[in-house]
Amino acid sequence: MNKYQYDYLIVGSGLSGAIFAHEAHLRGKKCLVIEKREKTGGNIRCENMEDINVHIYGAHIFHTDDVNIWEYINRFATFNNFINSPLANYKGRLFNLPFNMNTFYQLWGTLTPAEAYERLESQRKAFSLSHSPKNLEEQALMLCGKDIYEILIKGYTEKQWGCSAQELPAEIIRRIPSRFTFDNNYFTDRYQGIPIGGYNPIINKLLEGIEVVTNCNFNQERYHFENIAPKIIYTGCIDEFFHYQLGALEYRSLQFDTQTKNTDNFQGNAVINYTAKEIPYTRIIEHKHFEFGNQPHTVITYEYPATFQKGSEPYYPVNNLHNSVLYQRYQELARSCPHVIFCGRLAEYKYYDMDDTVKSALICAEHEFK
Ligand SMILES: Cc1cc2nc3c(=O)[nH]c(=O)nc-3n(C[C@H](O)[C@H](O)[C@H](O)COP(=O)(O)OP(=O)(O)OC[C@H]3O[C@@H](n4cnc5c(N)ncnc54)[C@H](O)[C@@H]3O)c2cc1C
Repeated sequence: MNKYQYDYLIVGSGLSGAIFAHEAHLRGKKCLVIEKREKTGGNIRCENMEDINVHIYGAHIFHTDDVNIWEYINRFATFNNFINSPLANYKGRLFNLPFNMNTFYQLWGTLTPAEAYERLESQRKAFSLSHSPKNLEEQALMLCGKDIYEILIKGYTEKQWGCSAQELPAEIIRRIPSRFTFDNNYFTDRYQGIPIGGYNPIINKLLEGIEVVTNCNFNQERYHFENIAPKIIYTGCIDEFFHYQLGALEYRSLQFDTQTKNTDNFQGNAVINYTAKEIPYTRIIEHKHFEFGNQPHTVITYEYPATFQKGSEPYYPVNNLHNSVLYQRYQELARSCPHVIFCGRLAEYKYYDMDDTVKSALICAEHEFK
Protein backbone atom coordinates (compact mmCIF):
# COMPACT_ATOMS: atom_id res chain seq x y z
CA MET A 1 0.00 0.00 0.00
CA ASN A 2 1.20 3.52 -0.82
CA LYS A 3 2.22 5.20 2.45
CA TYR A 4 2.02 8.65 0.85
CA GLN A 5 -1.04 10.90 0.66
CA TYR A 6 0.20 12.82 -2.39
CA ASP A 7 2.41 12.24 -5.41
CA TYR A 8 4.04 15.65 -5.09
CA LEU A 9 4.46 18.20 -2.34
CA ILE A 10 5.13 21.63 -3.84
CA VAL A 11 6.67 24.15 -1.49
CA GLY A 12 5.81 27.67 -2.64
CA SER A 13 2.90 28.95 -4.72
CA GLY A 14 4.82 31.45 -6.87
CA LEU A 15 5.05 31.11 -10.61
CA SER A 16 7.48 28.16 -10.40
CA GLY A 17 5.47 26.14 -7.89
CA ALA A 18 2.15 26.89 -9.60
CA ILE A 19 3.45 25.85 -13.04
CA PHE A 20 4.95 22.63 -11.77
CA ALA A 21 1.75 21.82 -9.85
CA HIS A 22 -0.34 22.54 -12.94
CA GLU A 23 1.79 20.30 -15.15
CA ALA A 24 1.69 17.48 -12.59
CA HIS A 25 -2.08 17.84 -12.12
CA LEU A 26 -2.57 17.66 -15.91
CA ARG A 27 -0.81 14.30 -15.82
CA GLY A 28 -3.16 13.00 -13.14
CA LYS A 29 -0.75 13.43 -10.23
CA LYS A 30 -2.06 14.29 -6.79
CA CYS A 31 -0.39 17.47 -5.54
CA LEU A 32 -0.35 19.51 -2.39
CA VAL A 33 0.95 23.09 -2.62
CA ILE A 34 2.00 24.77 0.62
CA GLU A 35 2.70 28.47 0.90
CA LYS A 36 4.14 30.29 3.89
CA ARG A 37 2.57 33.63 2.97
CA GLU A 38 -1.08 34.43 3.56
CA LYS A 39 -1.80 34.45 -0.17
CA THR A 40 -0.65 32.54 -3.25
CA GLY A 41 1.35 33.92 -6.17
CA GLY A 42 4.78 34.65 -4.71
CA ASN A 43 6.22 37.89 -5.98
CA ILE A 44 3.79 38.32 -8.85
CA ARG A 45 0.88 38.67 -6.41
CA CYS A 46 -1.31 41.74 -6.95
CA GLU A 47 -3.60 43.43 -4.46
CA ASN A 48 -6.69 45.29 -5.59
CA MET A 49 -6.70 48.85 -4.21
CA GLU A 50 -9.02 51.58 -5.51
CA ASP A 51 -9.96 49.14 -8.29
CA ILE A 52 -6.31 49.11 -9.42
CA ASN A 53 -4.14 45.97 -9.57
CA VAL A 54 -1.20 46.88 -7.36
CA HIS A 55 2.03 44.92 -7.86
CA ILE A 56 2.73 44.60 -4.15
CA TYR A 57 6.14 42.93 -4.50
CA GLY A 58 7.47 45.30 -7.16
CA ALA A 59 6.51 46.24 -10.71
CA HIS A 60 6.18 43.21 -12.98
CA ILE A 61 6.20 43.48 -16.75
CA PHE A 62 6.07 40.25 -18.69
CA HIS A 63 8.45 40.13 -21.65
CA THR A 64 10.01 37.34 -23.64
CA ASP A 65 11.60 36.52 -26.95
CA ASP A 66 10.49 32.92 -26.77
CA VAL A 67 7.29 32.24 -28.68
CA ASN A 68 6.67 28.98 -26.78
CA ILE A 69 6.80 30.73 -23.41
CA TRP A 70 4.58 33.52 -24.73
CA GLU A 71 2.00 31.05 -26.02
CA TYR A 72 2.15 29.07 -22.78
CA ILE A 73 1.49 32.07 -20.52
CA ASN A 74 -1.24 33.32 -22.84
CA ARG A 75 -3.21 30.18 -22.05
CA PHE A 76 -3.81 31.64 -18.59
CA ALA A 77 -4.37 35.34 -19.35
CA THR A 78 -4.97 37.89 -22.05
CA PHE A 79 -2.14 40.38 -22.18
CA ASN A 80 -2.52 44.06 -23.01
CA ASN A 81 -0.11 46.03 -25.20
CA PHE A 82 1.76 47.81 -22.39
CA ILE A 83 5.30 48.78 -23.40
CA ASN A 84 7.71 49.57 -20.62
CA SER A 85 9.11 53.06 -21.26
CA PRO A 86 10.54 54.21 -17.95
CA LEU A 87 11.85 57.70 -17.25
CA ALA A 88 14.65 58.86 -15.00
CA ASN A 89 14.27 61.88 -12.75
CA TYR A 90 17.60 63.45 -11.82
CA LYS A 91 17.32 66.53 -9.63
CA GLY A 92 14.06 67.58 -11.29
CA ARG A 93 15.11 66.87 -14.88
CA LEU A 94 13.49 64.01 -16.81
CA PHE A 95 15.33 61.65 -19.15
CA ASN A 96 14.00 58.80 -21.26
CA LEU A 97 15.33 55.30 -20.73
CA PRO A 98 16.90 53.17 -22.06
CA PHE A 99 19.64 55.45 -23.42
CA ASN A 100 18.43 56.52 -26.84
CA MET A 101 18.16 59.55 -29.10
CA ASN A 102 15.59 61.13 -26.76
CA THR A 103 18.01 60.76 -23.83
CA PHE A 104 20.91 62.21 -25.82
CA TYR A 105 18.77 65.17 -26.85
CA GLN A 106 17.76 65.74 -23.21
CA LEU A 107 21.41 65.48 -22.09
CA TRP A 108 23.21 67.36 -24.84
CA GLY A 109 20.68 68.80 -27.27
CA THR A 110 22.02 66.56 -30.07
CA LEU A 111 19.58 66.25 -32.95
CA THR A 112 20.97 63.55 -35.22
CA PRO A 113 22.42 60.08 -34.60
CA ALA A 114 25.78 61.25 -35.96
CA GLU A 115 25.92 64.18 -33.50
CA ALA A 116 24.89 61.98 -30.59
CA TYR A 117 27.40 59.29 -31.51
CA GLU A 118 30.21 61.82 -31.77
CA ARG A 119 29.30 63.30 -28.37
CA LEU A 120 29.17 59.89 -26.73
CA GLU A 121 32.48 58.85 -28.27
CA SER A 122 34.20 62.00 -27.04
CA GLN A 123 32.85 61.35 -23.53
CA ARG A 124 34.08 57.77 -23.67
CA LYS A 125 37.51 58.70 -24.98
CA ALA A 126 38.10 60.92 -21.98
CA PHE A 127 38.02 57.74 -19.88
CA SER A 128 39.83 55.23 -22.05
CA LEU A 129 42.00 53.22 -19.67
CA SER A 130 45.38 51.60 -20.14
CA HIS A 131 44.38 48.90 -17.61
CA SER A 132 41.22 46.80 -17.35
CA PRO A 133 38.59 48.55 -15.20
CA LYS A 134 39.09 47.90 -11.49
CA ASN A 135 35.54 48.64 -10.38
CA LEU A 136 32.06 49.47 -11.60
CA GLU A 137 32.77 53.20 -11.71
CA GLU A 138 35.75 52.79 -14.04
CA GLN A 139 33.86 50.32 -16.18
CA ALA A 140 30.82 52.59 -16.56
CA LEU A 141 32.92 55.70 -17.28
CA MET A 142 34.77 53.76 -19.95
CA LEU A 143 31.55 52.53 -21.53
CA CYS A 144 29.45 55.69 -21.48
CA GLY A 145 31.49 58.66 -20.22
CA LYS A 146 30.90 61.14 -17.43
CA ASP A 147 27.46 62.65 -18.16
CA ILE A 148 25.48 59.43 -18.49
CA TYR A 149 27.38 57.86 -15.61
CA GLU A 150 26.94 60.74 -13.17
CA ILE A 151 23.36 61.61 -14.07
CA LEU A 152 21.80 58.24 -14.79
CA ILE A 153 23.93 55.43 -13.36
CA LYS A 154 26.01 56.33 -10.32
CA GLY A 155 23.39 57.33 -7.71
CA TYR A 156 20.87 54.69 -8.78
CA THR A 157 23.44 51.88 -8.69
CA GLU A 158 24.88 52.98 -5.35
CA LYS A 159 21.40 53.05 -3.80
CA GLN A 160 20.57 49.66 -5.28
CA TRP A 161 23.67 47.95 -3.94
CA GLY A 162 24.04 50.00 -0.76
CA CYS A 163 27.69 50.89 -1.39
CA SER A 164 29.95 53.10 -3.48
CA ALA A 165 30.37 52.27 -7.19
CA GLN A 166 34.12 52.12 -6.53
CA GLU A 167 33.55 49.17 -4.20
CA LEU A 168 31.46 47.26 -6.73
CA PRO A 169 33.05 44.79 -9.17
CA ALA A 170 33.37 45.94 -12.79
CA GLU A 171 31.62 42.77 -14.00
CA ILE A 172 28.21 43.97 -12.76
CA ILE A 173 28.06 46.11 -15.90
CA ARG A 174 29.33 44.33 -18.99
CA ARG A 175 27.83 46.61 -21.57
CA ILE A 176 25.68 49.72 -21.60
CA PRO A 177 23.40 49.52 -24.62
CA SER A 178 22.76 52.81 -26.44
CA ARG A 179 20.27 53.21 -29.25
CA PHE A 180 20.59 55.77 -31.98
CA THR A 181 16.85 55.81 -32.65
CA PHE A 182 14.04 57.62 -30.81
CA ASP A 183 12.83 54.39 -29.21
CA ASN A 184 11.87 54.35 -25.52
CA ASN A 185 10.86 50.67 -25.35
CA TYR A 186 12.98 49.37 -22.47
CA PHE A 187 12.96 45.76 -23.62
CA THR A 188 14.14 44.37 -26.92
CA ASP A 189 12.02 41.21 -26.66
CA ARG A 190 9.42 40.45 -29.28
CA TYR A 191 6.54 39.91 -26.82
CA GLN A 192 5.62 42.16 -23.91
CA GLY A 193 2.58 43.14 -21.86
CA ILE A 194 0.65 43.05 -18.61
CA PRO A 195 -2.04 40.44 -18.00
CA ILE A 196 -5.41 42.20 -18.11
CA GLY A 197 -6.78 41.94 -14.56
CA GLY A 198 -3.31 41.51 -13.03
CA TYR A 199 -1.29 38.38 -12.28
CA ASN A 200 -3.56 36.68 -9.72
CA PRO A 201 -5.88 35.10 -12.32
CA ILE A 202 -2.83 33.38 -13.87
CA ILE A 203 -1.92 31.77 -10.56
CA ASN A 204 -5.55 30.92 -9.80
CA LYS A 205 -5.94 29.18 -13.17
CA LEU A 206 -2.65 27.32 -12.76
CA LEU A 207 -3.74 26.08 -9.34
CA GLU A 208 -7.32 25.18 -10.33
CA GLY A 209 -8.29 21.79 -8.92
CA ILE A 210 -5.14 21.54 -6.76
CA GLU A 211 -5.08 21.48 -2.98
CA VAL A 212 -3.36 24.58 -1.58
CA VAL A 213 -2.60 25.43 2.04
CA THR A 214 -1.43 28.96 2.84
CA ASN A 215 0.20 30.28 6.04
CA CYS A 216 2.14 27.04 6.07
CA ASN A 217 5.93 26.97 6.31
CA PHE A 218 7.62 23.76 5.21
CA ASN A 219 10.57 24.34 7.51
CA GLN A 220 8.36 24.59 10.59
CA GLU A 221 6.61 21.25 10.02
CA ARG A 222 9.34 19.52 8.19
CA TYR A 223 8.98 15.99 9.48
CA HIS A 224 5.28 15.91 8.60
CA PHE A 225 5.85 17.30 5.10
CA GLU A 226 8.89 15.14 4.33
CA ASN A 227 6.61 12.14 4.72
CA ILE A 228 3.55 13.31 2.86
CA ALA A 229 4.81 12.70 -0.69
CA PRO A 230 7.67 10.76 -2.27
CA LYS A 231 8.79 13.84 -4.22
CA ILE A 232 9.13 17.45 -3.15
CA ILE A 233 9.37 20.47 -5.42
CA TYR A 234 11.09 23.12 -3.35
CA THR A 235 10.87 26.73 -4.58
CA GLY A 236 12.11 28.44 -1.38
CA CYS A 237 15.70 29.46 -0.55
CA ILE A 238 18.11 26.56 -0.99
CA ASP A 239 20.31 27.59 1.95
CA GLU A 240 17.28 27.68 4.26
CA PHE A 241 16.31 24.15 3.13
CA PHE A 242 19.71 22.95 4.34
CA HIS A 243 19.49 24.95 7.60
CA TYR A 244 22.27 27.29 6.39
CA GLN A 245 24.76 24.56 7.19
CA LEU A 246 27.32 25.94 4.70
CA GLY A 247 26.53 29.59 5.48
CA ALA A 248 23.90 32.04 4.24
CA LEU A 249 23.65 33.17 0.63
CA GLU A 250 23.47 36.95 0.29
CA TYR A 251 20.52 38.89 -1.10
CA ARG A 252 19.43 42.48 -1.57
CA SER A 253 16.02 43.32 -0.22
CA LEU A 254 13.46 46.06 -0.88
CA GLN A 255 10.97 48.07 1.14
CA PHE A 256 7.76 49.25 -0.47
CA ASP A 257 5.75 52.26 0.65
CA THR A 258 2.38 52.15 -1.12
CA GLN A 259 0.09 55.16 -0.96
CA THR A 260 -3.29 56.11 -2.40
CA LYS A 261 -3.35 59.60 -3.89
CA ASN A 262 -6.39 61.71 -4.39
CA THR A 263 -5.64 62.44 -8.01
CA ASP A 264 -6.30 60.48 -11.17
CA ASN A 265 -2.75 60.81 -12.48
CA PHE A 266 0.26 61.29 -10.20
CA GLN A 267 3.24 61.01 -12.53
CA GLY A 268 1.93 60.18 -16.02
CA ASN A 269 3.99 57.02 -16.38
CA ALA A 270 4.10 53.55 -14.78
CA VAL A 271 7.78 53.73 -13.78
CA ILE A 272 9.99 56.69 -12.92
CA ASN A 273 13.48 56.01 -11.61
CA TYR A 274 15.10 58.48 -9.23
CA THR A 275 18.78 58.50 -10.03
CA ALA A 276 20.15 61.08 -7.56
CA LYS A 277 21.86 59.66 -4.49
CA GLU A 278 20.13 62.15 -2.17
CA ILE A 279 16.66 60.70 -2.91
CA PRO A 280 16.40 57.53 -0.79
CA TYR A 281 14.05 55.61 -3.06
CA THR A 282 15.05 54.22 -6.47
CA ARG A 283 11.72 54.47 -8.21
CA ILE A 284 8.07 55.37 -7.99
CA ILE A 285 5.58 53.01 -9.58
CA GLU A 286 2.11 54.24 -10.55
CA HIS A 287 0.22 50.98 -10.95
CA LYS A 288 -2.84 52.12 -12.91
CA HIS A 289 -0.71 52.92 -15.95
CA PHE A 290 0.18 49.23 -16.39
CA GLU A 291 -3.43 48.66 -17.40
CA PHE A 292 -4.24 52.13 -18.82
CA GLY A 293 -6.63 52.69 -15.90
CA ASN A 294 -8.99 55.66 -15.69
CA GLN A 295 -10.04 55.30 -12.04
CA PRO A 296 -10.63 58.58 -10.16
CA HIS A 297 -7.76 57.87 -7.72
CA THR A 298 -4.30 56.46 -8.09
CA VAL A 299 -1.99 54.16 -6.13
CA ILE A 300 1.76 54.68 -6.13
CA THR A 301 4.64 52.77 -4.57
CA TYR A 302 7.98 54.17 -3.47
CA GLU A 303 10.62 51.47 -3.80
CA TYR A 304 13.54 51.60 -1.35
CA PRO A 305 16.52 49.25 -1.64
CA ALA A 306 17.27 47.53 1.67
CA THR A 307 19.83 45.32 3.33
CA PHE A 308 18.72 41.71 3.54
CA GLN A 309 18.52 40.16 6.99
CA LYS A 310 16.99 36.87 8.02
CA GLY A 311 13.25 37.50 8.17
CA SER A 312 13.21 40.14 5.42
CA GLU A 313 12.27 39.24 1.85
CA PRO A 314 15.11 37.98 -0.34
CA TYR A 315 14.58 39.82 -3.63
CA TYR A 316 17.81 39.88 -5.61
CA PRO A 317 20.63 37.33 -5.40
CA VAL A 318 24.06 38.93 -5.03
CA ASN A 319 25.96 37.29 -7.85
CA ASN A 320 29.57 37.57 -6.75
CA LEU A 321 32.27 34.93 -6.57
CA HIS A 322 31.67 34.13 -2.89
CA ASN A 323 27.97 33.44 -3.44
CA SER A 324 28.39 31.48 -6.64
CA VAL A 325 30.93 29.17 -4.93
CA LEU A 326 28.62 28.80 -1.94
CA TYR A 327 25.64 28.08 -4.19
CA GLN A 328 27.62 25.40 -6.03
CA ARG A 329 28.33 23.76 -2.70
CA TYR A 330 24.61 23.78 -1.89
CA GLN A 331 23.96 22.24 -5.30
CA GLU A 332 26.31 19.41 -4.36
CA LEU A 333 24.34 18.90 -1.13
CA ALA A 334 21.15 18.89 -3.19
CA ARG A 335 22.47 15.89 -5.11
CA SER A 336 22.25 13.93 -1.85
CA CYS A 337 18.47 14.55 -1.84
CA PRO A 338 17.28 13.06 -5.14
CA HIS A 339 13.67 13.16 -3.94
CA VAL A 340 13.78 16.98 -3.88
CA ILE A 341 13.64 19.09 -7.04
CA PHE A 342 14.97 22.61 -6.45
CA CYS A 343 13.17 24.93 -8.83
CA GLY A 344 12.69 28.70 -9.17
CA ARG A 345 14.59 31.86 -8.45
CA LEU A 346 15.23 31.18 -4.74
CA ALA A 347 16.03 27.48 -5.01
CA GLU A 348 18.29 28.04 -8.02
CA TYR A 349 19.71 31.31 -6.61
CA LYS A 350 19.31 33.09 -9.96
CA TYR A 351 17.85 36.36 -11.05
CA TYR A 352 15.06 34.94 -13.16
CA ASP A 353 12.64 37.12 -15.07
CA MET A 354 9.16 35.61 -15.29
CA ASP A 355 9.83 34.07 -18.70
CA ASP A 356 12.99 32.38 -17.32
CA THR A 357 10.93 31.17 -14.36
CA VAL A 358 8.26 29.69 -16.63
CA LYS A 359 10.94 28.01 -18.72
CA SER A 360 12.76 26.58 -15.74
CA ALA A 361 9.55 25.18 -14.20
CA LEU A 362 8.54 23.62 -17.52
CA ILE A 363 11.98 22.04 -17.86
CA CYS A 364 11.68 20.59 -14.34
CA ALA A 365 8.25 19.17 -15.24
CA GLU A 366 9.44 17.82 -18.59
CA HIS A 367 12.37 16.14 -16.91
CA GLU A 368 10.15 14.65 -14.23
CA PHE A 369 7.44 13.38 -16.57
CA LYS A 370 9.52 12.25 -19.54
C1 LIG B 1 11.17 43.66 -7.38
C2 LIG B 1 11.08 42.65 -8.47
C3 LIG B 1 10.61 43.05 -9.72
C4 LIG B 1 10.55 42.11 -10.75
N1 LIG B 1 10.09 42.55 -11.97
C5 LIG B 1 10.02 41.67 -12.98
C6 LIG B 1 9.57 42.12 -14.26
O1 LIG B 1 9.24 43.29 -14.49
N2 LIG B 1 9.52 41.20 -15.26
C7 LIG B 1 9.87 39.88 -15.08
O2 LIG B 1 9.79 39.10 -16.03
N3 LIG B 1 10.27 39.45 -13.87
C8 LIG B 1 10.35 40.30 -12.82
N4 LIG B 1 10.77 39.86 -11.59
C9 LIG B 1 11.07 38.41 -11.39
C10 LIG B 1 9.83 37.59 -10.97
O3 LIG B 1 9.32 38.09 -9.76
C11 LIG B 1 10.25 36.11 -10.81
O4 LIG B 1 10.71 35.60 -12.04
C12 LIG B 1 9.12 35.16 -10.32
O5 LIG B 1 8.23 35.77 -9.45
C13 LIG B 1 9.78 33.98 -9.63
O6 LIG B 1 8.82 33.04 -9.21
P1 LIG B 1 9.22 31.90 -8.16
O7 LIG B 1 8.02 31.04 -7.98
O8 LIG B 1 10.47 31.23 -8.60
O9 LIG B 1 9.59 32.68 -6.83
P2 LIG B 1 8.67 33.46 -5.81
O10 LIG B 1 7.73 34.34 -6.51
O11 LIG B 1 9.59 34.07 -4.82
O12 LIG B 1 7.83 32.31 -5.09
C14 LIG B 1 8.35 31.47 -4.11
C15 LIG B 1 7.23 31.21 -3.12
O13 LIG B 1 7.67 30.21 -2.19
C16 LIG B 1 7.21 30.56 -0.91
N5 LIG B 1 8.09 29.89 0.06
C17 LIG B 1 9.41 30.07 0.23
N6 LIG B 1 9.88 29.29 1.23
C18 LIG B 1 8.81 28.60 1.69
C19 LIG B 1 8.66 27.65 2.73
N7 LIG B 1 9.68 27.27 3.50
N8 LIG B 1 7.42 27.12 2.97
C20 LIG B 1 6.36 27.52 2.21
N9 LIG B 1 6.46 28.44 1.21
C21 LIG B 1 7.67 28.97 0.97
C22 LIG B 1 7.34 32.07 -0.90
O14 LIG B 1 6.55 32.65 0.12
C23 LIG B 1 6.88 32.43 -2.31
O15 LIG B 1 5.50 32.64 -2.35
C24 LIG B 1 10.91 40.77 -10.54
C25 LIG B 1 11.37 40.37 -9.29
C26 LIG B 1 11.48 41.30 -8.27
C27 LIG B 1 12.01 40.87 -6.96
